[in-house]
Amino acid sequence: MPPRKFDGDKLVIASHNQGKVVEIADLLHPFDVEVVSSAELNLSEPEENGDSFIANAVIKAQSAASESGLPVLADDSGLVVHALSGDPGIYSARWAGPNKDFYQAMNRIEALLEGEKDRSAHFTCALVLAWPDGQYECFEGYVHGEMAWPPRGDNGFGYDPVFIPEGFEITCAEMLPATKHAISHRANAFKKLVAACFEKE
Ligand code: IMP
Repeated sequence: MPPRKFDGDKLVIASHNQGKVVEIADLLHPFDVEVVSSAELNLSEPEENGDSFIANAVIKAQSAASESGLPVLADDSGLVVHALSGDPGIYSARWAGPNKDFYQAMNRIEALLEGEKDRSAHFTCALVLAWPDGQYECFEGYVHGEMAWPPRGDNGFGYDPVFIPEGFEITCAEMLPATKHAISHRANAFKKLVAACFEKE
């Protein structure tokens, strides 16, 4: 079956993470879509108990679509460190603890990588567009790079200060937001979503 096209004028972003909502709203800017976040609509945050980025994005998208009665775009993303068997992976947010202290999470990764030569990593982004009738479309994007230490830069969010994308010598947190948005895992997944669900034939 060909992917379902988005033909509405309002889209819910199923995230309570303001950093992500801003990035997604930026990426949706060229399309004539009103964007509202699940936090603004006071939607509940379902338990993310899936075993993959896609499974967790489906849980978030379907929960927000059935509560709001609107189409929803959900993102589940994280940092995959190869020498740590893919950790923190789908637990990227949880490694920062209840206070969302990403400096603590970055320190933990650095301590685990001590003496390790392989510092390669990638960010993954799963995007799921879901409709209130239960149908959904899934897309996944990546950006590959290396872990840096110590953390550098004040832009972005999460693990951006310790990730240097391939082809760069600066971390994602040292880049202008427009530079990161052009190469990020989210941008990469977004291109696939746009080609499948937003572009007119
Ligand atoms: P989620 O809200 O469960 O998808 O959590 C994803 C977590 O992965 C975020 O809280 C960040 O810690 C991390 N993450 C995802 N995307 C990025 C990014 O673009 N830069 C830095 N960290 C990210």
